[in-house]
Amino acid sequence: MSESPTPPDAPAPAKAADPLVIRSLTFAGPMASPRGWRPHPSLPEVAFAGRSNVGKSSLLNALVRRKAFARVSKTPGRTREINFFEVNRQFMLVDLPGYGYARISKERKAEWKPLIEGYIRTSPALRGVVLLLDVRHDPTNDDRQMLDFLADVEVPTLVALTKVDKLGTTARTKRIRALSDEIGLDPSQVIPFSAHAHIGRDELAEALLELVAAPPFRDLPFPEPPASPDAPAPVVLDDEA
Ligand code: GDP
Repeated sequence: MSESPTPPDAPAPAKAADPLVIRSLTFAGPMASPRGWRPHPSLPEVAFAGRSNVGKSSLLNALVRRKAFARVSKTPGRTREINFFEVNRQFMLVDLPGYGYARISKERKAEWKPLIEGYIRTSPALRGVVLLLDVRHDPTNDDRQMLDFLADVEVPTLVALTKVDKLGTTARTKRIRALSDEIGLDPSQVIPFSAHAHIGRDELAEALLELVAAPPFRDLPFPEPPASPDAPAPVVLDDEA
């Protein structure tokens, strides 16, 4: 028996609920040096890494549906720091400085490497890292170093393949498979993404929340709450609570 056609006045199928509704977003402050200030690690942290220009600010803006990151993380001076954003009083979104800019000097590289690696090695609240790779390009030496480092620390890792709108459907599927094979990740760890074409936002949000909900992958001592006089005042970017 054939199915009866949908009556013209039937309600549209319900849209899947947004897995990550942003109710509050606060810039908690920057970490500028390996032993510098950082927020007390009381909330689970998920960090975002990628080379400069990979599309990290666009991805983060799409993730929280705000232009907040472009405003904060791209202000002069901030681009070399680790920026901490508290989301929904539930988790900390950690924006690592973009690495491996083609023209970067050895000196600059010597600055960001210890900062990024030191943070990833020592944060007791870190639950996972999202590494961004441009779907069109093979991983650079810096990307490979980062992947090796993340594997070495054994931190749960997702890879977001950015700018997939730049490829047609067939080329995209082929490229995603080839890149996943090349970096040796299970396809479940790889999320095709496009900020411009609104692809992958909810998948990324869901995967991120799974990392947030997972128990810590390692057992590191929690520091005493700092009595740090140089702690910055948090900046509320959005608060619907
Ligand atoms: P960041 O340096 O990693 O923070 O990268 P941005 O988010 O500033 O993006 C760098 C450049 O890539 C900008 O010109 C963006 O417009 C572009 N871009 C970012 N995301 C996308 C995307 O999803 N699709 C396309 N086609 N371009 C993008």
